[in-house]
Amino acid sequence: DVIKNLEKINHHADELVDLINDLLDISRLESGKTIIRFEPISLKNIADKVIDMLSVQCKDKGIEVSSNIQEEFVINVDRVQIERVFINLIGNAIKFTPPQGKIMLTAHSKKDFVQIDIADTGIGIPSEAQESIFEEFYRVDNAIKQDTKGTGLGLSLVKNIVEAHGGTIWVKRKPQEGAVFS
Ligand code: ATP
Ligand code: MG
Repeated sequence: DVIKNLEKINHHADELVDLINDLLDISRLESGKTIIRFEPISLKNIADKVIDMLSVQCKDKGIEVSSNIQEEFVINVDRVQIERVFINLIGNAIKFTPPQGKIMLTAHSKKDFVQIDIADTGIGIPSEAQESIFEEFYRVDNAIKQDTKGTGLGLSLVKNIVEAHGGTIWVKRKPQEGAVFS
């Protein structure tokens, strides 16, 4: 029992360290202190890597992730930071999509930028919460959320990383069809 309790304490301590690190990263990004190391990166490459990283979680829930991002999308970004964006967004999509759902990644070029859409067939986000979810610690108060874990920092981090690259992020709700983060 002592061992079990120590394991629990250890686990909670790890979670606190993660939380503190997320907060530190957010504040460094907000204050412009994070150095963004721009280099040409294949978007397909990042997407495939992150999908592979999260494939066990997907399999466990019977969720299918597909990407039709083509080789041609090579953009100047910080690989490590953009990987975190994909990990958080795909991670959320898995977390808030019931078993047997689907997640779809697409990319298309607009005038001066590339738009990436991450769509899921999950619980979706009520329109009144579509701005607040990007704030620190904000989590939508819906039934399914009760069994999901999280601190509500992921999207705040994602937004800061995207904006540090000169990009924008937004979410739309497809009626009955889940969320699309762009
Ligand atoms: P953390 O990312 O810190 O582990 P979290 O996933 O709850 O916790 P965020 O990633 O910041 O926090 O997301 C904020 C809230 O937005 C979530 O709690 C959830 O209510 C909602 N949300 C985010 N992504 C989705 C999605 N794909 N579908 C439905 N709701 C979502
Ligand atoms: Mg999250």
